[in-house]
Amino acid sequence: MSKFIDERFDGYAPYVPGEQPKERKYIKLNTNESPFPPSAFALKLAREAAGDSGLYPDPEYTSLISVAAEKFKLKKENFLFTNGSDEALNYAFAAYCGQKKRAVFADVTYGFYGVFADFYGAEKKIIPLRDDFGIKAEDYFSAGGTVFIANPNAPTGKILSVNEIKGIIENNLENVVVIDEAYIDFGGKSVLPLVNDYDNLIVVRTFSKSRSLAGARIGFAAANEQLISDLKRIKYSLNPYNMSNVGAAAAIGALIDDEYFTANCKKIIENRNYMTEKLRSFGFTVLDSFANFVFAKYNGLSGKAVYEGLKERGVLVRFFDKPRISEFVRITVGSDEECKALIAAANEVVKELI
Ligand SMILES: *Cc1c(COP(=O)(O)O)cnc(C)c1O
Repeated sequence: MSKFIDERFDGYAPYVPGEQPKERKYIKLNTNESPFPPSAFALKLAREAAGDSGLYPDPEYTSLISVAAEKFKLKKENFLFTNGSDEALNYAFAAYCGQKKRAVFADVTYGFYGVFADFYGAEKKIIPLRDDFGIKAEDYFSAGGTVFIANPNAPTGKILSVNEIKGIIENNLENVVVIDEAYIDFGGKSVLPLVNDYDNLIVVRTFSKSRSLAGARIGFAAANEQLISDLKRIKYSLNPYNMSNVGAAAAIGALIDDEYFTANCKKIIENRNYMTEKLRSFGFTVLDSFANFVFAKYNGLSGKAVYEGLKERGVLVRFFDKPRISEFVRITVGSDEECKALIAAANEVVKELI
């Protein structure tokens, strides 16, 4: 850092993305991307849109929102599209979690929540997961600040029911509740249809996982009009043209190409079940996952040892050097071949180290 940087960034720890190594070809099961390419229709629309790149895009992304409103059976006023869902989360923290405000989230969850809270100077109220790594809805009642819950949670893959989330929303009428549904397409039940029933619910979605568009950076927030206007106030203060015209066009294609999306989600769920069973068959403990990754540990081995053993064999996974979860690795569910390679490598690692 230079001497010029604002002193509030002393001791501040930015988000650390999963590694994207270039030196060797790895089987990449570390950042929860889709193993499948973007929809061909999404790519076609993106290529067509590229010709308009000389002009600024429509900052309201009206065409995209019209398609989304129809797809998700909501009003156009319920949407704000963003540069990845990280940007939607960023705007929510900016709007509701300034200094002297509180951000409430689990001890084991998406790492960015703590980073944004620190960035905006909010107080962090961190609620431990229960012993089974689940979130207990009651722990979030009257939370005293803006609640952020990833559902399914990352990196555990565990899920809350719609009724449990309703309980959290209804017991926080003085707080905004943000439900981050990055992984909802892999088996959970969404609360998106509830956004017009509550004035304190924001649902955040991404196209990075189930819609194969991580590189295009597409996400959205859905909420009632008042909350959306809060978030728009932030967007128009920071980044009015927050998505590229090419990305927005790809997003339209990805939404329309439902058949491809549905087939890919189905395949990921099958492969997740395969991976879970196989890992368990040679002694891994694997949490039941509702996401496109599994969270697994092997008794007697650290997550780091498993990670390193797999990396030597050309398979990248993620481990977290953090209390409670240092024994675990998070493994993205890949294609058939990738899952087979992971299973073979994991089997070798265990044989070598145990
Ligand atoms: C991947 C992920 C995101 C961010 O996704 P982008 O849309 O790529 O910014 C947000 N929340 C959770 C829980 C995630 O795992």
